[in-house]
Amino acid sequence: MKAGKIALVAAAGAVVGGILLAERTRPLRAQTRPAIPRNIRNAALGAGCAVIVAAVEEPLTQAIAQKNEARRRGIAQKLPGPLREIAGIIAMDYGFYWWHVATHRVPFLWRFHRVHHIDPDMDASTAVRFHPADMFVSLPWRLAQVRLSGVGPRGLRWWRNIFNFSILFHHSNMKLPGRLDDLLAAVITTPKMHGIHHSVVAEQADSNFTSGLSIWDRLHGTFRDDVAQGSITIGVDDARQQDVELPHALTAPFKDQPATKMTG
Ligand SMILES: [Zn+2]
Repeated sequence: MKAGKIALVAAAGAVVGGILLAERTRPLRAQTRPAIPRNIRNAALGAGCAVIVAAVEEPLTQAIAQKNEARRRGIAQKLPGPLREIAGIIAMDYGFYWWHVATHRVPFLWRFHRVHHIDPDMDASTAVRFHPADMFVSLPWRLAQVRLSGVGPRGLRWWRNIFNFSILFHHSNMKLPGRLDDLLAAVITTPKMHGIHHSVVAEQADSNFTSGLSIWDRLHGTFRDDVAQGSITIGVDDARQQDVELPHALTAPFKDQPATKMTG
């Protein structure tokens, strides 16, 4: 590994460690359950997802991104050279906004996304709590996203790194100092914004869908910052709360769905 790469990995490790420490020392919302069993459960689901993404999604999306660049196809590739990389990353971010909206509005997609939302507290571990099958369910959209965006291989790798850092950051239960959270929300998704999205109240959860730039929510009227964090109950308002546990979480999407107040 080159020195630059080692420095980057070390910096990323320090940032992740900082977030995990900060959310314990300066919590944004009071936690309702013991953290350790939740964190282990979420990490187990996340490990399953990571294997599928590395084995299936990454090779397929990288192959499409390489062709985008070679054939100058997709939105970003129509732009002049220096703008292509950044435009590709922004287009990927916008595509992900619509995917997230769809997971809340389409009942079949909600079956899988519900496993993420049913976590009764939210912290950085919630960022990786997805049903592994969701990685296959989301694959056609992801491939279309890469093809249409015109993102190149380098831009795609950057998008993935930024996306992973961003989801860890905005799922964290970290209280930022002063008005920093509100100031950052002018540009990116913050822990306060995403806390509202994880509320059991459907009208509150029907907001703040973006995973990166907050402009997408502002553009489509889904931005909300008017709910106090102390008043939020995290989770899903349905009758099958046992789906939090790992064996139930894994089988939940394939069972009859409880009467959930779908958003939208
Ligand atoms: Zn969601």
